[in-house]
Amino acid sequence: MLRIIFLGAPGAGKGTISDIIEKKYNYKKISTGDLIRAEVKSNSIIGEKLRPIVDKGELVSDDIIVEIVKKRVTSKYINKGYIMDGFPRNINQAKELSKIEVDREVVIYLKVGNEEVIFNRLLSREICKNCEAIFNTKNKPPKVEGVCDICGGILEKRTDDNEGTIEERLRVYIEVTKPIIKYYEDKGVLYRVDASISIEEVFKKIGEILN
Ligand SMILES: [Zn+2]
Repeated sequence: MLRIIFLGAPGAGKGTISDIIEKKYNYKKISTGDLIRAEVKSNSIIGEKLRPIVDKGELVSDDIIVEIVKKRVTSKYINKGYIMDGFPRNINQAKELSKIEVDREVVIYLKVGNEEVIFNRLLSREICKNCEAIFNTKNKPPKVEGVCDICGGILEKRTDDNEGTIEERLRVYIEVTKPIIKYYEDKGVLYRVDASISIEEVFKKIGEILN
């Protein structure tokens, strides 16, 4: 069993790249948000525990999230490997996640340069209203301006991609994510990939790491 974790600043392309990897290698993408919603909907024991937390909009504790992740990755639904999407978000989650054993763990840190670069990437990001595909008017523009290449839907900016919230997200990212990078580096499973190059090049580099 292989576990792939993508780390990187907001806008580094984690979502886009993990989607490609999922399809190409037939690994399953694990979204903790989706898992939490599914548990609540299924009225499972964990779901019942989660419902009041989710209803109040409170944060789900790290040990419960890891419990749900564990349940999922040990199910028959997953046989080759899985990709963590948006998790771990802090050092404690990273440590909890390490308790779920795998044959190989690959942590890919998508580097996009300094804060100014990240800032501008986020400002030029557009998302399809219909299929949620992500484009970037600078790095990955759609063939037709404002129109999704995949489904023809209308592209729009995410409401939280504005200067004020981007600044705040970057601040949180630096404070919280940097120690996670250090943690995996010490563990000897961290790979740095320059994500400021084209998506094809990034994908090629990741392919070399995985093979
Ligand atoms: Zn679309």
